[in-house]
Amino acid sequence: MPGFEFFGEEERKEVNDVLQTGILMRYGFDGPRKGIWKSKELEAALCKRLDCRYAQLTSSGTSALTTALAALGIGAGDEVIMPSFTFVASFEAVLSVGAIPVIVDVNESLTIDPESIRNAITDSTKCIMPVHMCGSMADLDAILTICREHDLLLLEDACQSIGASYKGKFLGTIGNAGTLSFDFVKTITCAEGGAVLTNDKTIYTHCDGYSDHGHDHEGRDRGAELHPFIGYNYRISELHAAVGLAQFRKLDTFLAIQKKNHQFLKDTLSRIPGVSFRQIPDPAGDSHTFLSWLLPTAELTRAVIAEMKSRNTLAGNFYWFEHNWHYIRKWDHLKKVETLNRLTDVQTRALKKLQLQDFSQSDAIMSRCISTAIGLSWTEEQLREKADGLAEAIKKVFSNASPQAHYSNQANPA
Ligand SMILES: *Cc1c(COP(=O)(O)O)cnc(C)c1O
Repeated sequence: MPGFEFFGEEERKEVNDVLQTGILMRYGFDGPRKGIWKSKELEAALCKRLDCRYAQLTSSGTSALTTALAALGIGAGDEVIMPSFTFVASFEAVLSVGAIPVIVDVNESLTIDPESIRNAITDSTKCIMPVHMCGSMADLDAILTICREHDLLLLEDACQSIGASYKGKFLGTIGNAGTLSFDFVKTITCAEGGAVLTNDKTIYTHCDGYSDHGHDHEGRDRGAELHPFIGYNYRISELHAAVGLAQFRKLDTFLAIQKKNHQFLKDTLSRIPGVSFRQIPDPAGDSHTFLSWLLPTAELTRAVIAEMKSRNTLAGNFYWFEHNWHYIRKWDHLKKVETLNRLTDVQTRALKKLQLQDFSQSDAIMSRCISTAIGLSWTEEQLREKADGLAEAIKKVFSNASPQAHYSNQANPA
């Protein structure tokens, strides 16, 4: 999955182009940069490959989310509905613009549950933010219907799903805006970086200015530019964009390898009765960065994790239910509002309510789910070893378990 598995000559060449001129900044210095514009080149490449009108690079996926939220006009007191299973960046960005993360359940797609969205809508709801987790997509048709019915904005967090699509359109290009991340463990990496995708010219212009101190980028030099609104510095550097450009050219290669390895693992696990898989609203659009599989009970899932640990084969397998970063259950700092600076009273009140909120629907799914990261550099032999290792651990646990354990579908988070 992570693009760093394929770091090489191509990345070094792009970085060297920038080092030759010494112009490490993406704006200005038109003469000395001698025609080297890596950020612009990567933005154009994103638009072309992902079939999207505009792309704005940023310093990270988190700042891409913040930039997109601001560009959509989301601010103080606005509610943004997001899922209980995501990366912490999703709520961090919402809080950073003064808005309120309203967290709702996921379903077996491991993404936001449309029914739970409906139940969470209030007069303050401004935006729905599905997160396309682990390489695959949320049910965007259902979510778009809700957006239309309630006049809400759609911001897709596609940070984990570059190259995945839904009914022929790339994730991140379907909503009013969408975001990508190029951090070090993402499919395409440039160490730190992100992008906002949109087909709306105004939203793009807002992103362009907001991520660079509000500059309108219409002056002949930076000093002469105007500032139609206040912005911040969420710029990417030319060095990062250069790495990103070389990496992004490898996207199709990565997707093809992932698909092949994913299929092999899935075929192996499919042969074990009791193993099921996440629902995928459009299977043809999966980017196959992970294979996410479910077992009948939380108890069996824990036992399989323990079995893998004892065999030293746990690396690359994620039990999100116990993970500190990705699931509501362990977000104590959020639920207790542990911040360095004071949030608004409305934000604080809303976050404190999370401690009492019932996430049993999410627990019942996440406590039975394990995601296996799909490697890009696995040899045939390693792939077979991985698949056999998983299958053996599962079969061993199943053979030790009482027969009814296979059939009860209850989570047991205690
Ligand atoms: C990685 C990620 C982000 C943001 O990432 P950065 O590390 O800031 O680039 C946002 N959302 C999700 C779901 C992510 O996985």
